[in-house]
Amino acid sequence: MEQNGRKIVIIGGGIAGLCAAVYALKCGYKVEVLEMHEMAGGLATSWRRGGYTFETCLHWLCGSKPGGEMHALWQEVFDIDKLTIVNAEEFVRIEDERGDSLRVYTNIDRLEAELLRRAPQDAATIRDFTRDVRHLGKFKMMDPSGGLSENWLNMLRDAPMLPLLNKLMKTSGAEYGKRFSDPLLRSFFGEGELGRLSAIAMVFSLAWMNAGNAGYPIGGSQAMIRLIEDKIASLGGKITFGAKVERILVEHGAAVGVELADGSTVMADWVISAADGHSTIYNLLGGKYLDPALSKAYDERELFPSYLQVSLGVALDLSEQPGAINRLLDSPLRVDPGTELDRVGFRFFHFDPTFAPAGKTAVTSFLPTANFGYWADLRKKSPAAYRDEKHRVAEAIIGVLERVIPGVRNAIEIVDVATPASVIRYTGNWKGSMEGWLIVPGGGFKPLPNTLPGLRKFMMAGQWVMPGGGLPSGPMTARPAIRAICKQDHVPFDLRAKDVEKPELVGV
Ligand SMILES: Cc1cc2nc3c(=O)[nH]c(=O)nc-3n(C[C@H](O)[C@H](O)[C@H](O)COP(=O)(O)OP(=O)(O)OC[C@H]3O[C@@H](n4cnc5c(N)ncnc54)[C@H](O)[C@@H]3O)c2cc1C
Repeated sequence: MEQNGRKIVIIGGGIAGLCAAVYALKCGYKVEVLEMHEMAGGLATSWRRGGYTFETCLHWLCGSKPGGEMHALWQEVFDIDKLTIVNAEEFVRIEDERGDSLRVYTNIDRLEAELLRRAPQDAATIRDFTRDVRHLGKFKMMDPSGGLSENWLNMLRDAPMLPLLNKLMKTSGAEYGKRFSDPLLRSFFGEGELGRLSAIAMVFSLAWMNAGNAGYPIGGSQAMIRLIEDKIASLGGKITFGAKVERILVEHGAAVGVELADGSTVMADWVISAADGHSTIYNLLGGKYLDPALSKAYDERELFPSYLQVSLGVALDLSEQPGAINRLLDSPLRVDPGTELDRVGFRFFHFDPTFAPAGKTAVTSFLPTANFGYWADLRKKSPAAYRDEKHRVAEAIIGVLERVIPGVRNAIEIVDVATPASVIRYTGNWKGSMEGWLIVPGGGFKPLPNTLPGLRKFMMAGQWVMPGGGLPSGPMTARPAIRAICKQDHVPFDLRAKDVEKPELVGV
């Protein structure tokens, strides 16, 4: 690779930081990624306990199917075709405590038939919904770093969908669900914490799944992270672990490097922060580079909640179970002060043989909470009470699972509980948020700026500049950041590295 003599330091080795590294290396920059944790991935992670692997992030990977725009974007940053993708038949099974259940199939024709069979009284609304999903399946993604000239064709193709997008953007999942009279169907669209999410998120997810373009890679999120790390190594980039950035160094209005927690400094021509947005702006830069619009966003915009994850190593083959269930509870489960859940989700990872020894199954349960402060304070002030609380929640979850699979309790050999305090400790995300800015009705998808007023030679990437977050926000924010840097440096934004042909981004 021909180097252009300039260096970029990247704060954070989550998906966005790693993608930024690949783009920068391909354009000839020298790159160092500084990651405070001992491994790459950030929220895109899993952990091992006693022979089991517990995934936290990956449910679906948009762009998993060869041929589309998102797949082409992934190909720019890693060899996605080395992943083994599984496309589930059932997205989730929703069941209540009286034995009623609804199978939410990923294939929209099958889902429509199932819904019409179950709730003929909702036929018109069901057909409306499945038509929306089919329509959005035709949506063509824009080149995130391109302007009108790169995107005009896809914009033209997407134009007829604008009224639908607008309608779904303005409706929350919970409101969308209220149109159905069937209680299980209503609940699918989410009530509680995630029911505030704009309906567009769920309808888009189903559209991608119906197209077989939102599969699960065997090995989970870390399988893809390792492939991106391989790409960085092959292009000559460097990732330093255990390197917590405390301060971004600024001279004459331009970022010139960073200072680490151990007092050492790393100097560079450009600094990219792919770490949490709030700590970047308010801590690493001392709140000096802000304008009213940005302050307002950080003061007022809604966030995805934080979460607890109860992970169980079960010495049973649970392949009779669907990959995911949502159990609607007769009486709510208390997670912490202010958080009572009327449903509990379980994921049974029998579809990933790398996650448990043969005949055993890794099971996880995700519990959203906005009360991150309770868990962070408890961990700090009273480790014993923190342990007891984790134990209480784990017991409650095992109690629900026992009602789903009678006798399972006796086969549980590993119990692990992660809390919002764990999310903050391991990823630094503000308020332990799972995905950054929530897409709420009226909030819009519009990205936040990736530069800060009054600060040159600095860029941001990741879920804190792209509302809705998700793994695609990695390449979708890293690409424009590096392209803008190249433009300012008069360096061609040419991704034709020696090992890869430039993929075609325009829709197929
Ligand atoms: C439970 C859950 C389920 C999800 N499911 C999906 C899914 O199915 N599909 C999907 O596409 N997305 C999913 N997501 C969302 C996705 O994981 C995130 O949006 C994405 O990984 C965010 O990447 P990021 O690089 O922007 O940020 P992060 O992953 O937060 O990375 C930031 C990195 O910066 C590091 N860092 C922070 N501060 C510093 C510092 N001062 N110095 C050095 N390093 C620092 C952190 O350690 C971290 O590694 C899910 C997330 C969660 C939590």
